[in-house]
Parts: sequence; C-alpha cells; structure tokens
Amino acid sequence: MRAPAKVNLQLSVGPRRADGFHDLTTVFHAVSLFDEITVTRAQGLTIRVEGEGASEVPTDHSNLASRAAVELALRTGVEPDVHVLIRKGIPVAGGCAGGSADAAATLVACDVLWGLDLSRDELSEIGAQLGSDVPFSLHGGTALGTGRGECLTPVLGSGSYSWVLALADDGLSTPEVYGELDRQRDRGPVAVVSDPAEVLTALRQGSPEALGPVLSNDLQPAAMALKPGLRRLLDSGADLGALGGVVSGSGPTVAFLARDDSHANALAAALAGHGVCRTVRVADGPVPGARVVRTT
Ligand code: ATP
Repeated sequence: MRAPAKVNLQLSVGPRRADGFHDLTTVFHAVSLFDEITVTRAQGLTIRVEGEGASEVPTDHSNLASRAAVELALRTGVEPDVHVLIRKGIPVAGGCAGGSADAAATLVACDVLWGLDLSRDELSEIGAQLGSDVPFSLHGGTALGTGRGECLTPVLGSGSYSWVLALADDGLSTPEVYGELDRQRDRGPVAVVSDPAEVLTALRQGSPEALGPVLSNDLQPAAMALKPGLRRLLDSGADLGALGGVVSGSGPTVAFLARDDSHANALAAALAGHGVCRTVRVADGPVPGARVVRTT
C-alpha cells in the first residue's frame, strides 16, 4: 500500500467548542510524499516501523495503523490477525497526516487481506472514528473538509502543482498548537477566520500564480509562536522566489509552491543551502489517496 501526505492549502479554525474540539473548514491537497505499508497474515496483531523518524512512532496499540486494524476487525467480526510494516516517508508529527495515512492504508489493506470487500464509504466512516484526517487520506486528490475535517467534498480543479516541503528538526504536537491558538484568541483581538473562496477560485483556474498568494492557515501564528524559526523559513522561501508558502496543518512542515517542477528543484536546492530547515522534499499534487500497489 502507498498512502500520501497532505498539505492544507487553506485552514480556518472556528472557536473552541464545549467538547474541546474546533470546527474546521479546510482545503486538503494530497502530495507525492508517501508512507509504504505492507500487511501480511500473522498470529495476533504486530506493528513494525522503519524509515525516517521511526523511533518516535509507537509500535503498540496506540499506533493509528494498529487502531485501524482493530476497529475494522471489531466491526466485521474477524480476528485482527495481521503484521503491519510501515516504512515512513512522511515526516512524523509534521502536520502532514502521516499517522492518518498509515491508518487509511491499513484499512484498505486489511479489507483486501481479510476478504471483507467493504466500500470506500464504509472504510471512510470507520476512518473518521480514528481521526479527522483519515477520510481524506483514503480519498486523496484535493477536497474541501468541514466538521472536524472529516466531511469531504471533492474540489473541482485542473492542473497539477509543484511543491517544496521544508521539514523541521522536531515535530509539533497538534493538541499543543490548538492550545496555543486558544490562548492567543483569549488574549484577543480574535484572529480573522480565513475563508476558502479565494483558494477554490485559484484551483478552478488551475493557476499556481493565483494559488500562491492566497494559501492560508489559521494555525500558522500558533505554530510560529511555538517554533519561532518558522518565520525565518517562510521569509527565506519568499525571498528565494516561492509563489507562496504556508505551514501545513499544525506544522511544522512548510509547503512552498513553485511555478513548475524545475522551479521546485531550484527552490529546494536554494532552501537547503540556507540552513533554515532540516531537509527539503520536492513533491507534486494532487495525487490519489491510499492505494494497493502490489499483492502477492
Ligand atoms: P496531523 O497532520 O494529522 O495533525 P501529524 O502529521 O502532525 O498529524 P503524525 O505524523 O500523524 O502527525 O503523528 C502524530 C503523533 O501520532 C506522533 O508523534 C506519534 O506519536 C503518533 N502516531 C501514532 N501512530 C502513528 C503512525 N502510524 N505514524 C506516525 N505517528 C503516529
């Protein structure tokens, strides 16, 4: 299985609700940075994680892939007998929905392995219980997310976009970033909640030049307060000619939009030389959601 990372082209966060969650409006965009997941028949449920940042990912039942297998088994009355090997290509705790990608891939893979034949909608409904980004990791492409991000509408658009993803040394905890946003809003003045209209218009035009300047994320000031180096990174990308740059989700990964692939390669090389981030990756979007690559 292969499951893609996501970036949020736009993310508006509503006020904190009584249950502690926030209503979101977001434009998700799946990019070609992937985790690879291999499932094999086993006695019981075991998880192994390899690749970058693997030591920060739990291998017990708190791993989102493990929770996905257990939930699917419970719903369908089968035993959760599976070994899941995760090769991380998506930065851990980077705001790119790596754990959600693994959960989505595990749902699709176990559905095949256990011969369940559930529909994408059924898998998506189970995925939404595990995390609000999981339905999008199944869906892929570009989509408008509402509710907690789990209610999806595909976004009509044309063309593909070239991105440079700037990865940071350490991750950011999503609950801590939301907590910081709440504190900032308590101190007031209340941040203006950004609207997806401009991003949706740019996507309809299929124009990177139109999309770059309207990328936005309500969580960005909170992520920047917790990681002040993000300001320098965003400024460097702008100075080096990115069409736009935005912190993805709760960060700290920053997505810079380029004109095309060759511009993205040049921008990536220039950013890498500036010493403002740990590493850079070039990626295209949109790409499909979690998919079976090979069965044996
Ligand atoms: P999001 O963008 O959905 O908020 P994120 O990309 O910032 O998430 P993840 O990489 O999904 O963050 O990981 C967040 C935390 O979840 C990690 O610190 C890790 O402890 C835990 N986790 C559980 N399962 C996984 C998994 N399969 N892959 C990565 N992290 C996982």
